[in-house]
Amino acid sequence: MPPSADAWHVNDSPAPIEQDGVEQHGVEQVRRLVTEVPGPRSRELDSRRSAAVSAGVGVGLPAYVARAGGGVLVDVDGNHLIDFGSGIAVTSVGNAAPEVVARVQAQVADFTHTCFMVTPYEGYVAVCEALAELTPGEHVKRSALFNSGAEAVENAVKIARTHTGRQAVVALDHAYHGRTNLTMALTAKNMPYKQGFGPFAGEVHRAPMAYPLRWPGAAEKTEEQIAAEALDAFVSTIRTQVGESNTAAVIVEPIQGEGGFVVPPAGWLRGVADFCAEHGILLIADEIQTGFCRTGDWFACDHEGVVPDLITTAKGMAGGLPLAAVTGRAEVMDSVHAGGLGGTYGGNPVACAAALGAIETMRSHDLVGRARRIEAILRPRLEALQEKYPVIAEVRGRGAMLAVELTAGPGDLTPHATATAVINKHCHSQGLVTLTAGTFGNVLRFLPPLVSPDHLLEDGLDIIEDAFARVLG
Ligand SMILES: *Cc1c(COP(=O)(O)O)cnc(C)c1O
Repeated sequence: MPPSADAWHVNDSPAPIEQDGVEQHGVEQVRRLVTEVPGPRSRELDSRRSAAVSAGVGVGLPAYVARAGGGVLVDVDGNHLIDFGSGIAVTSVGNAAPEVVARVQAQVADFTHTCFMVTPYEGYVAVCEALAELTPGEHVKRSALFNSGAEAVENAVKIARTHTGRQAVVALDHAYHGRTNLTMALTAKNMPYKQGFGPFAGEVHRAPMAYPLRWPGAAEKTEEQIAAEALDAFVSTIRTQVGESNTAAVIVEPIQGEGGFVVPPAGWLRGVADFCAEHGILLIADEIQTGFCRTGDWFACDHEGVVPDLITTAKGMAGGLPLAAVTGRAEVMDSVHAGGLGGTYGGNPVACAAALGAIETMRSHDLVGRARRIEAILRPRLEALQEKYPVIAEVRGRGAMLAVELTAGPGDLTPHATATAVINKHCHSQGLVTLTAGTFGNVLRFLPPLVSPDHLLEDGLDIIEDAFARVLG
């Protein structure tokens, strides 16, 4: 059954997330360890990995997954692990979400591929319609679909350059935009993303990020002052080192992802947007990690009321299938010559079916509200932990995208990457999948699926508390 154009418009009374031990996709929503983690079968598979998989592909927790549902991963040894990573903010609608599975199964049986540029199909169009409706701004929009976040970012830059006739692109300190050549250039952090992989694409410039915790003299400054100073530094970098009239685009993550969930102070993003508008520079919001309900809004830009010219999306959009998009002002998106954008697999019909199922789930379960509820559960307990352990310099993030940054202690912002790594490992050993982040590797980040029931979140928090007690006791 092909997806209908408004197939993701469903009932207006959202269904609550079912609580208490119920199953999602046949997986009981509990943590249950039956072996050590990783167990013997995982360790066996992991020795096959070393023999067959490039060492360049790292693995965080080598517990091999056999099945998953909602907020729980079941490994090959039968351990039920709590997922606080969502495969890096991807399975926001839960793993193997029923609406995603049903639509993918129907689509894969109908046809698997035609290439949209050869013979098109409705699902691609329906996803672009959904993007036009859901992304910030009431203007007329167009979208193009791709396979990965990096590919979307590359294309956003291509589009910005054609539209403006300018070449320079400005990215921020601590930014992460992907691992392809152009996106490596846009990404700030050297190790592991860039080390030895140069030369990088040209005409990429870097401006200071409004990073409140680490802004010079932050302790004596208000959020407003930091926003103003950071905006001055940003503007001055473009003015003195790049030139406004050479600048095609500024690319910003409204809340930085791999960079450590850095939340710029209120007003800063608005200032960046206004500066861009004044100088004919396109603002690209990279919402690949923050988009699709994760931060307690459909998009993180919504929180600031900022409307970007172009927005890149991927991760949470398609419930685990590879799909990415660039969405933007019609006149910008349509300034590219026919054939200038595309790719063999971009907007694959199975991935589009998954996206329509994921968006339906976001609406039917009010996952925007659910992300806010998750913050209401996680934040107070993380803040209590901060009271107890002064190595936690900051609890930050928004919605179901929260993190703690670990430093040497009060008044000393020296990053504490070792404690971060050890606590992360301890969580893994107890059956909680956590991730680290940050330019200095000293941030623990939490990205649970938005459908995780409350008791699972509380259990995950218990493990985090226990990990801090054991490691820093
Ligand atoms: C993950 C990510 C990317 C890259 O996406 P891939 O699908 O891994 O290529 C780009 N930007 C942001 C903000 C991301 O979080």
